[in-house]
Amino acid sequence: MTAIRTGLAPGATIGVLGGGQLGRMMAVVARQMGYRIIVLDPSPRCPTAQVSDGVVVGALDDLAAAKHLASQVDVITLDTEHVPADILEALEPIAPVRPGAAVLRTIQDRLVQKQFLDRLGLPQAAWAPADDLDAALAKVGRPAILKVRRAGYDGKGQVRVERDGDPVALLARLRGEPAVAEALVGFTREISVILARGLDGQIQIYPIAENAHRRHILHTTRAPAPMPKARRSQAEAMAVAVAEALGHVGVMAVEMFELPDGQLLINEIAPRTHNSGHYTYGACATSQFEQHIRAVCGVPLGDPRALTGAVMVNLIGDLWSHGAPAWQEVLARPEARLHLYGKDAPAPGRKMGHVVLLDDDTGRALATAESLITTLSSRS
Ligand code: ADP
Ligand code: MG
Repeated sequence: MTAIRTGLAPGATIGVLGGGQLGRMMAVVARQMGYRIIVLDPSPRCPTAQVSDGVVVGALDDLAAAKHLASQVDVITLDTEHVPADILEALEPIAPVRPGAAVLRTIQDRLVQKQFLDRLGLPQAAWAPADDLDAALAKVGRPAILKVRRAGYDGKGQVRVERDGDPVALLARLRGEPAVAEALVGFTREISVILARGLDGQIQIYPIAENAHRRHILHTTRAPAPMPKARRSQAEAMAVAVAEALGHVGVMAVEMFELPDGQLLINEIAPRTHNSGHYTYGACATSQFEQHIRAVCGVPLGDPRALTGAVMVNLIGDLWSHGAPAWQEVLARPEARLHLYGKDAPAPGRKMGHVVLLDDDTGRALATAESLITTLSSRS
């Protein structure tokens, strides 16, 4: 429709598979730029549908529904890496899918992803398929972590094997799902590199994010992560190598562990916008969401430069245990930006929203984030 030589101009329609908060934030900026958004999701009231031009109601593995979406759009992208690669492949003749089915096939199975990283010679924790559990634990040692190969997120589908735990009982907790075993890494901190790769192969990299998790769920991100220049360059080079080898198009996050000696190991790759990049919405000249839209539409990437330091803190469903949190505590702070995802069922462990604190003193912003969370959980 609006395809021009330089990419899809505003006015074109973007299809999003999956209607979570990532799709929602993508849709908000896409519509701000004049693009149209149609989303596929089982719920017509999902976070993305609330801010979209149209919704196709269906499961993410419903081929007929996905084709119905594809027939109405100029390009297709994803809110989650868990859309089956076979579905994406079936859509490719109808509309361009970015990132493509081949990228997703490599990423969405942890075992295939780890083999891919090994082939590139990129460092990661010792790992082995968990089919033969004894052999796997003999290879990676104990303590270890067992992770299901497919469909894990926020630590779901993971169990930790202690030195003396019974691994067979633990494996049963994964309900017989195929899994990989991974050595437990004694990291000093976690970081992520978020970049975008355009249709023309151009790459733009965001300031590195430093991430703290609670109960396997991202709690805070601070950016830019204080880091010696050489190590930052090394982290960036690793992420660029991944994006180029995949032939990725769009935003991508590479999660890494930093070891006490400064060595970096890749934890996992997310072929999409990422929770640790939410700070870019407000702190950077071009947010990760706008950057993703630009990449998948095949238009030039924007400037990823940070205009300020920032801290992001997630708002998890547990905060709602006494009713809606006291938002005036957030709104009263001029440096705070409140994002709520429009989810109507706050469950423990569920990501409901986040706050970005814009402050060049990121140490102070981290302290503010902690005190905000304490206040929000004690008052409603
Ligand atoms: P997901 O983000 O898909 O739930 P991850 O593999 O990133 O899965 O695991 C979630 C978190 O669990 C990580 O960010 C990290 O804090 C912790 N974790 C995962 N794997 C390891 C490991 N091998 N050693 C130490 N901690 C780990
Ligand atoms: Mg992760």
